[in-house]
Amino acid sequence: MPNLERLEMFIQALESGEYKQGKERLTKILPDGTKEHCCLGVMCEVAIANGLEIETIAVSVGFEGEKNVLYGETGRRDFLPKEVQRWYGVNTNNFMIPVPCGDENCNSTHSATYANDMFGSDFQAIANGFRTLFNIPKNETSVSSENNENNES
Ligand SMILES: [Zn+2]
Repeated sequence: MPNLERLEMFIQALESGEYKQGKERLTKILPDGTKEHCCLGVMCEVAIANGLEIETIAVSVGFEGEKNVLYGETGRRDFLPKEVQRWYGVNTNNFMIPVPCGDENCNSTHSATYANDMFGSDFQAIANGFRTLFNIPKNETSVSSENNENNES
């Protein structure tokens, strides 16, 4: 069962503007230390920030000084590792989401990574797609700068 509370945290992270978007890798570390994430990389980072214990290793790639982060036992750098899937209660390493692809007549869903890497969909558009996929409406209070929600569960 998808954990909607955790998915909401992920979607809010996409909407927050705190994460810089990158392509083709979950997380890249640029030579100046800046991190860039694809949408699924944000998903990994949010899980880790909220208690998922998972191995992460930064490995150098061919480019000068650039690194990729490998997540989990199998060292995923492109799609969602099993540990992160389990944390969110999903069973897929990628997601088919409704997101504009540039074709006005297209009613198809597209993979989140394809939207991220190929369509140039920004995190806002991708967040909207995830909201539709999991039927999590945007809570108006969640975008306010003061986030003092009382979570009693
Ligand atoms: Zn399309």
